[in-house]
Amino acid sequence: MAIQVTERYCPICGKLVTEATHNRFGEWCCSDAHAEEYVADVRAQKQRQLAAGGPAPSEQRRERHRGCC
Ligand SMILES: [Zn+2]
Repeated sequence: MAIQVTERYCPICGKLVTEATHNRFGEWCCSDAHAEEYVADVRAQKQRQLAAGGPAPSEQRRERHRGCC
């Protein structure tokens, strides 16, 4: 089996990330500031979904894996 060489990009600024130092929820952030920003973003999204009476988090996770676009 080949070694997986997946390039990681910061979800906030899109910069290539080579170290997992600021990994949050499986997303690689380029810096502590952007890691915090990403965490805050995820929290805000979850709260919005709860407020809207959306599906449970487990359902959401399945949704996300269906496609990226
Ligand atoms: Zn960044």
